[in-house]
Amino acid sequence: MGALVEDARHQVSELEAALGRVADGTYGLCEVCGTAIPSARLEARPAARTCIAHAR
Ligand SMILES: [Zn+2]
Repeated sequence: MGALVEDARHQVSELEAALGRVADGTYGLCEVCGTAIPSARLEARPAARTCIAHAR
């Protein structure tokens, strides 16, 4: 259970960071190149920080 809890906490912190980017007006923009992240990717990963090209 410990790993699951840690994973859930990580996801919450990622979503909180995403909400911070909404407030900044940078949500949905790649952190690396600044281009808009495709909406299909945001639907799959709402907390995505980068475009597909810059996803690790
Ligand atoms: Zn990018």
